Amino acid sequence: MERFDAVVVGAGSVGLPTALALAESGLRTVVLDAAASLGQGAHKAAIGGVRATHGDPAKMRVGRHSLDAFRTWQGRYGDDIEWVTSGYAFVAYREREATMLQRLVAAQRSAGLDVVWLDGDGAHERVPALAREGLLGAAWSPGDGHCSTLLAGQAMAAAARRSGASFRFGERVLEVIVEGGSVVGVRTDRGAYASPVVVNAAGAGAAALAQRVGDSLEIASELHEAGITEAVAPFLGPLVVDITPGPGSVNVYCYQTSRGQVIFCLTPEPAILGDDLVETSAFLPQVATRLVTLIPRIQHLRVRRTWRGVYPMTPDASPLVGWSSHVEGLLHAAGMCGQGFMLGPGVGALIARMLHRELGDDDHDTLTAWAPERDFAGREALR
Ligand SMILES: Cc1cc2nc3c(=O)[nH]c(=O)nc-3n(C[C@H](O)[C@H](O)[C@H](O)COP(=O)(O)OP(=O)(O)OC[C@H]3O[C@@H](n4cnc5c(N)ncnc54)[C@H](O)[C@@H]3O)c2cc1C
Repeated sequence: MERFDAVVVGAGSVGLPTALALAESGLRTVVLDAAASLGQGAHKAAIGGVRATHGDPAKMRVGRHSLDAFRTWQGRYGDDIEWVTSGYAFVAYREREATMLQRLVAAQRSAGLDVVWLDGDGAHERVPALAREGLLGAAWSPGDGHCSTLLAGQAMAAAARRSGASFRFGERVLEVIVEGGSVVGVRTDRGAYASPVVVNAAGAGAAALAQRVGDSLEIASELHEAGITEAVAPFLGPLVVDITPGPGSVNVYCYQTSRGQVIFCLTPEPAILGDDLVETSAFLPQVATRLVTLIPRIQHLRVRRTWRGVYPMTPDASPLVGWSSHVEGLLHAAGMCGQGFMLGPGVGALIARMLHRELGDDDHDTLTAWAPERDFAGREALR
């Protein structure tokens, strides 16, 4: 049986940066994924938005680390991941959202984040493509941005390989092998691997894997759709999020890529649960109505394609990261909700510190907030 210091289950938004962090910290690491290549789960559905401006303080801390990782990637590793420091504008057209966002900006600023509240004129000056009528303001974070999930995933895997990590695709992990209460490896549909540590970064498959050892992860698969237009000349700088509830949706968000296409998503209400990844005919008219109202120029763009993917949602919309309560050596890193891509590098670095027992006070706070079997009393303001 091949022997490793750590097995990472899942080569997705969390597994890839985790493998990189573990390999760079000197651990002999193997990544196992049931799919034929990397990023074939929720990762490839993500639109690549990256921000540190969250409602959950733990997400702010981890998000900040991730933001730095994406922003400095090309300088450190050489690959162009199409990173753009575009800024994020959370816009408000009603008093209710304006008040909520202003409160959030105050909390984010006291956590040290670079974010300000702009009034209606200021927000429109920053994002002239926005509909001006009724615009009350925006939470503006100039350091946030976006990149290509495809290029970032490939770059992380390549960097992890250069640091010695191995990847095995088309290999499903069937169970975690436990002896005397401790992990000793995993069994797959093609063989077995020996390791004292298993990181469960299996995304939508994480709860089933956890269940095999008696751990209960509260993750629901929420289905979200996204789309992309043809490429046009630049007209939309920042990533725009409108959190005003509309008919059948709680928010809509979009940005223009460095290649000129506009990528867009909305969060459906009520949530669509399950594993049916075939996109619907309902999404496009619904999102188009919202987008054209928000950014009128979008009416001139032709949509090239739409797709559907999973948000692995937890009851309080914050991730589940922590050791198994039943088995020593099994670490869960799942339930990333709508932010697994933007949190991934920070989560990977946190996991490396957990394995090397180098946790700081902030890490302990994060792990308390994200404990897999917490009581889920609160709810993240920005899902
Ligand atoms: C439309 C849409 C837009 C989004 N936009 C953003 C965004 O802009 N920014 C952002 O941060 N997030 C975004 N997200 C959310 C993001 O995609 C997820 O939070 C993230 O991809 C989850 O990462 P993960 O590593 O947990 O899961 P995944 O990326 O799904 O990775 C899990 C991997 O585990 C593998 N696997 C599962 N079970 C097993 C097993 N038993 N054995 C072996 N392998 C297994 C799967 O094949 C998969 O590759 C978006 C999601 C959607 C649907």
